Amino acid sequence: MAERMGFFTDTSVCIGCKACEVACKEWNDIPDDGFVFRATSYDNTGSLGASTWRHVAFIEQPGRAPAAPRQGDGDGDGDGGPEDIEGWLMSSDVCKHCTHAACLDVCPTGALFRTEFDTVVVQADVCNGCGYCVPACPYGVIERRERDGRAFKCTMCYDRQLGGLEPACAKACPTDSIQFGPLDELHARAGERLERLHSEGRQEARLYGASPDDGVGGAGAFFLLLADPEVYGLPPDPVVTTRDLPAMWRWAGGAALSLVGAVAVSFLSNR
Ligand code: SF4
Ligand code: SF4
Repeated sequence: MAERMGFFTDTSVCIGCKACEVACKEWNDIPDDGFVFRATSYDNTGSLGASTWRHVAFIEQPGRAPAAPRQGDGDGDGDGGPEDIEGWLMSSDVCKHCTHAACLDVCPTGALFRTEFDTVVVQADVCNGCGYCVPACPYGVIERRERDGRAFKCTMCYDRQLGGLEPACAKACPTDSIQFGPLDELHARAGERLERLHSEGRQEARLYGASPDDGVGGAGAFFLLLADPEVYGLPPDPVVTTRDLPAMWRWAGGAALSLVGAVAVSFLSNR
């Protein structure tokens, strides 16, 4: 197998331009999201889904004061008070390409498979639309497309990787918020970045998905966040949903054997 490849998404330098979303759609020929005006945020795509394989979340942060005070605070009294001052957290989310991927465990057709780059890819021409993978994903990433029923998600641009190219989102990102490369190198780079942010007093910075000890065995796509994962809509303690399957099968096997034994005993004792 080739080296494990991954994404390091450093949200501290994301400017929310959504170039990654556009590049992903363009390269992978993904249909539109319906152009829905949500009226809750400047974010016009909402969440990851069958037609949004990269999603840049805009998270409004009331009270996160910008470096230079603004004139007035927007509440009309002009006092510049923190209650009206908004900052933004921007984060480009994507499939985590989990080390232990439940979506892959439950797929009955082999449409989901692990590539030579240790990424998880779904093949649209093999997917039968059963949808088992959808509830199996602990991050709510994979989704069936209403128009044809099949499941879709980020492939980490498998076709581009085969051609020696980086994924379209990483190529398009103007701030290098999305970095692509061998996972070990990305971990080292992320560690340095974290140290630097901490030395600058940004104690809130933390890595998410980088530890092999988390509930999915670590992610192939990990993040540097500036707040708790929940703020970004990410589960704080993700667990591979198929974790208990082997034990459940063992219990089911044991129960079936006991039943067969009980029937045999009853049959023999009635003779
Ligand atoms: S994040 Fe979800 S869809 Fe992506 S590999 Fe993990 S389980 Fe599968
Ligand atoms: S292209 Fe880069 S800077 Fe722009 S939204 Fe995506 S991650 Fe953020």
